[in-house]
Amino acid sequence: MKMNNMKLKVPTQEDFENYDGLHCHRLWAMVGDYWICPSCKRNKYQIMRWAKRFPNSPNAFYDWVAILHKHHDHSQGYLSLNNGRFPQTVICDQCNSADGAAKRKLSLPKDFSFSPEEIGRFVKATPHGKHEIDYEIAKAIYDAVHI
Ligand SMILES: [Zn+2]
Repeated sequence: MKMNNMKLKVPTQEDFENYDGLHCHRLWAMVGDYWICPSCKRNKYQIMRWAKRFPNSPNAFYDWVAILHKHHDHSQGYLSLNNGRFPQTVICDQCNSADGAAKRKLSLPKDFSFSPEEIGRFVKATPHGKHEIDYEIAKAIYDAVHI
């Protein structure tokens, strides 16, 4: 039988209960047990991914990683976080990196941010995996906002 190397490692209930959010443990605790990423609709358990910690260090090791980000409209600066196209929102790290990857790939202005709902439209999410990004949809969303 052929091994499927693409099979994702899935955390156990114990892994989930022992996970504390790493460097964002306050935010991890603050959002509560029933938090769901507003972009990809995955819950806290589903955003846990088996990943390399400190990949550039000789002490790199694999561990469960699930990082939350406070996502805000960069066009508004840090002083008026709620005056942009969307209020500051906590999203998962895969959605946060999809926002950045789409902006880089499409050469969008640095101060543009996709809203959580818009990110949800151009990512394909897998529990415990990485997002697939549809750059054509991301471009269409950007164009629709900037006519
Ligand atoms: Zn997400």
